[in-house]
Amino acid sequence: MKLKEIYNSQKPVISYEIFPPKGEPSEMKEKIEALLQELEVLSEYKPSFISVTYGAGGSTRDKTFELVLKIKDKLHIQALPHFTCVGSEKDEILQNIKEIQHANIENIFALRGDPPKGETKFIKPKNGFGYANELVDFIRANTNLGIAVAGYPEGHPESESLEKDLVNLKRKVDAGADIVITQLFFNNEFFFNFVERARKTGINIPIVPGILPITNYAQAEKMASMCGCTIPDDLATKLRQHQDDNKAIRDIGIEHATKQIKELIANNVPGIHFYILNKPNSFNINHLKLIFSKQRQLR
Ligand code: FAD
Repeated sequence: MKLKEIYNSQKPVISYEIFPPKGEPSEMKEKIEALLQELEVLSEYKPSFISVTYGAGGSTRDKTFELVLKIKDKLHIQALPHFTCVGSEKDEILQNIKEIQHANIENIFALRGDPPKGETKFIKPKNGFGYANELVDFIRANTNLGIAVAGYPEGHPESESLEKDLVNLKRKVDAGADIVITQLFFNNEFFFNFVERARKTGINIPIVPGILPITNYAQAEKMASMCGCTIPDDLATKLRQHQDDNKAIRDIGIEHATKQIKELIANNVPGIHFYILNKPNSFNINHLKLIFSKQRQLR
């Protein structure tokens, strides 16, 4: 089903975001199998799709694609491959997006991507794209894939202002994006303000909040600083006070995510996109199960 139809026919739409396992090629089969087993447990909550990230510089392209096919064929859940412009020329991008379409994958997440490691500025590849709106345009012109794009409630880290960032988001929407999935945030006010400003800018497609349930103090801080998102003072204080107590951190994470989700659903969001950090020891099914059990509105 295309993203447009998914968000038209179901509410709230539940989706998960995972990344391809890291490690030696010899370990990959086992790691992917273990991940699929865990996702099978989470399929109980009827996610409408699972999105699979695309490593920096296209480094995980084959793994992303392999995992997407496995999710689709083995779990019978729709899978959404992320795709970035980093290091790719148009011919290669065309080949890749056609391949995705031929594999009967219906949707794609179109991103610019971050500059490769060691570089601070994104350099447009020769005969490639400099911004995600160009990629969206290209995908629209060459395939009939449904398209998700990224939005930033607290602004993209490179952006001069929230206003300019929204103008640029509007470019992606005008180029043909079907939905916006947001960067993670821990304070719903950022999301509500973002949606209000986006609507005023004329962005009328679904804007889906991305939620990271905190399971680990160091990881939450790292993610927040990488993504340029704020941890509210009261939450940061609580996390710091219990930083050596994993169980307490998990309880705080569950409580906070539950509160965020309840308020978002009460405000009629189109869905919740869960960032599942599927690293060993932090991809915690029980954690998510507890969140779901506290949310009557979630499936
Ligand atoms: P763009 O929309 O192109 O924006 C990049 C910057 O340029 C912004 O500051 C914007 O304001 C500005 N800008 C945009 N268009 C124009 C224009 N036409 N003219 C001038 N300025 C412009 N990264 C990965 O490598 N792999 C992933 O799988 C991945 N998944 C993600 C999933 C989500 C939900 C999110 C929120 C981010 C994800 N990212 C991923 C990170 C993303 O690649 C980075 O945030 C990247 O720096 C920007 O990508 P973008 O598609 O938002 O870029």
